Amino acid sequence: MNIPLFGLLRRINRFRKARLRARAGRYLSVCRRIERVYPPAERVCAMTFDDGPSALPPAPDVAGGRGLTAHLLDVLARARATATFDVIGSTADNYPDTAGELHTHFVFGRAYDHYACFDQDDKAGALACADLLRRLTEEGHEPANHGYRHVLFGPNRTVYRSRRFFRTADETLADLARLHALVERETGVGMTLARPPHYVDRIPDGYTAYDVYAFMGYHYLAASVDGGGWQPSRGSYEDDVDDMVTPLRALLRQDPDALRGAVIFQKDGYNMSCQTPIASALPRQLALLAEYGYRVVSVSRLMALSPFADLPPDDPCFAAAAALDRAGRAVGYKNNTFQPNRPVTRGELCFMAAPRAALSDRRPFVSGARATGFSDVPGAHPYAPAAAWARETGLFTGPRLAPETPAAPDEIRGVARALGADPGAVADGSRRAAALALWGTLV
Ligand SMILES: [Zn+2]
Repeated sequence: MNIPLFGLLRRINRFRKARLRARAGRYLSVCRRIERVYPPAERVCAMTFDDGPSALPPAPDVAGGRGLTAHLLDVLARARATATFDVIGSTADNYPDTAGELHTHFVFGRAYDHYACFDQDDKAGALACADLLRRLTEEGHEPANHGYRHVLFGPNRTVYRSRRFFRTADETLADLARLHALVERETGVGMTLARPPHYVDRIPDGYTAYDVYAFMGYHYLAASVDGGGWQPSRGSYEDDVDDMVTPLRALLRQDPDALRGAVIFQKDGYNMSCQTPIASALPRQLALLAEYGYRVVSVSRLMALSPFADLPPDDPCFAAAAALDRAGRAVGYKNNTFQPNRPVTRGELCFMAAPRAALSDRRPFVSGARATGFSDVPGAHPYAPAAAWARETGLFTGPRLAPETPAAPDEIRGVARALGADPGAVADGSRRAAALALWGTLV
């Protein structure tokens, strides 16, 4: 490809991403994208490990024959660190398939991914490694749903062109539910976070990862820092290990607080050269983080300290927003912001007040099987389920809802009172005031 065209494509892609980001901060969402959170008062960050658990020993074997995940768990325990493991169920059904070339994206298979590696599907995943799954939850780590078969949610034309993918939200949901049930049966833990394989979000039938995750009760687990360890080898194992530590050290030297509230991506499996630099890098990364006074925790623990990306713990509505969030109320935007000073709209007020169960399935509205009852809220509107709930409960009546219109302080007060709270005076029409008024509806 010639360079000017490549430059143009990159600019278009940057523009597209900026537009997507702006849109992600426009509507409240049951499922939020967790990339990082507002820096907590102390130095805390979260770590996530993808594609395990894996019973294959590290390569090269730096753990004396112990399996990779068992080794990582030993290292984390010594550092008193906890983490989130984005586990898979099993890739054993992902055949017929052929292995691709070493050092490429296709080393784990051309049509599908295979973990621990091609033809060794019985060495990784929650099904084959239930003992590791149980161990990680017993030691305070958290499992997250990375897809039972690690199948893409939709096509990826740029990298994984030869890959099979799910075609419908129903198919994707069945795969997620299968892993959810397996993890719950083995550990008693109901997962609350999920990460799509290779971050492919768009399902061909018009839904997205956010829709299926909302249905499952998950937040979308992204990351803000790449720990490395998944790319092909540069040729030397020592260099590959250094590549996972040096950037982290440079970042902390420049700003010791750079990782406060960050989510670090790591790999619980082979890289594209079928090696595991994570096995040697993790102890060094954890020592470095300890040197700077960091505590490493699971994403849920990080979110318990600071649930939103932009809401400081000393904000007057922090306790209210956090309590509503814990109770399952959808009070944050899709990009995990809270935006306390923004005027709350009538549509948002309905969305914030509704119980989660009323909001978690958009499909009947999108398909036209259910109507909102308001002429200005079509079924495809992000607040359609909330509007229907508000009409059924009598919070809003009349032919139109005007979902984009700012709510007056009296309207916020009216909704809180109708739901059994006595908010007193409502200071203004901000989202902060709405959170404080709705807080009382939890008891
Ligand atoms: Zn993965």
